[in-house]
Amino acid sequence: MPLAPITIPRREPSEHDVQIEILFCGICHSDLHTVRNEWGGTVYPCVPGHEIVGRVTKVGSAVTKFKPGDLAAVGCMVDSDGSCPECQAAVEQFCPNMTGTYNSPDRHLGSVTYGGYSDSIVVKEHFVLQVPPNLNLAGAAPLLCAGITTYSPLRHWGVTKGKKVGVVGLGGLGHMAVKFAHALGAHVVVFTTSPNKKEDALRLGADDVVISRDADQMKQHASSFDFILDAVSAEHDINAYIQLLRRDGNITLVGAPPKPLVVSAFGLLLGRRSLSGSPIGGIAETQEMLDFCSKHDITADVEVIPIQKVNEAYDRLLKSDVKYRFSIDMASLKSK
Ligand code: NAP
Ligand code: ZN
Repeated sequence: MPLAPITIPRREPSEHDVQIEILFCGICHSDLHTVRNEWGGTVYPCVPGHEIVGRVTKVGSAVTKFKPGDLAAVGCMVDSDGSCPECQAAVEQFCPNMTGTYNSPDRHLGSVTYGGYSDSIVVKEHFVLQVPPNLNLAGAAPLLCAGITTYSPLRHWGVTKGKKVGVVGLGGLGHMAVKFAHALGAHVVVFTTSPNKKEDALRLGADDVVISRDADQMKQHASSFDFILDAVSAEHDINAYIQLLRRDGNITLVGAPPKPLVVSAFGLLLGRRSLSGSPIGGIAETQEMLDFCSKHDITADVEVIPIQKVNEAYDRLLKSDVKYRFSIDMASLKSK
């Protein structure tokens, strides 16, 4: 079923809330997985969108970081319990009571939360990020998911100058990973199924590009990577990448294909290699990432679209035809 306009409720801001007029919202492949119920658990109607940039229109009496007129951003989370060990460690993404920006039980209005493909949103201050003023807003929106989801594991796994880093899949997440790994000083190799993305990969900061369907090109990189980030949205052979890790190398999945991946034990045990996953990032780390982007002049490469083209954009995502993130200009919601 295609996406279509509906009217949704938003709460009045309470004392700790910030009300935001949404200016841009990125399209994440997770939106598509959810809208099409590929992971299961989608509640309809579903309003996706967790890459939100906008302007503050109203704040509650206890809000201190924002005032009306300020730029503000919201990512994949809008609430958590604030008291569990994960929240205390500033990794709210692991809180058992975390509320996702959409398709998550809504503590205030019942039903589920509704995301950023909308004209406004009301969010608890702790989950609202500050947008550095030098960032282009359409290109900044995707930082709130594609940005933090790639920045966090690159930092966690110690990607720095001198490391050889692979990025698998040059989509929304992958192209952010290339920019970050390059800015962190790593030697970056992109693995793509799309030969026509080669020039772009180099421009985005890759030192080398491998067409992953070419077994000979793959072999040339055997046992050489310190770290590989896999940002592929569909079924693929991960063993081919495990073989490219050096001793004690790690491959981290950020891509979330609906079907399980097959992993050969030998690829991991010969070389003591490891396989991990990583979801988004905490609020403090998201702010750190935005500030890193401000300093290094990093935003997503976006194709700005009106909301009326959202279904077409989803079809293109499925064909890997995205350069490299769709960002919806939310002003288009007002036009028919
Ligand atoms: P995207 O923009 O659609 O990019 C996915 C890329 O994967 C494509 O551009 C393509 O790159 C590659 N690909 C697609 N189908 C493939 C196939 N059959 N075989 C091999 N490669 C294929 O998606 P995205 O928004 O970056 O999201 C990527 C994945 O990350 C999704 O599953 C999404 O749900 C997930 N995600 C996870 C988190 C998290 O917290 N961990 C956060 C956000 C998104 P090439 O053309 O270069 O091959
Ligand atoms: Zn996302």
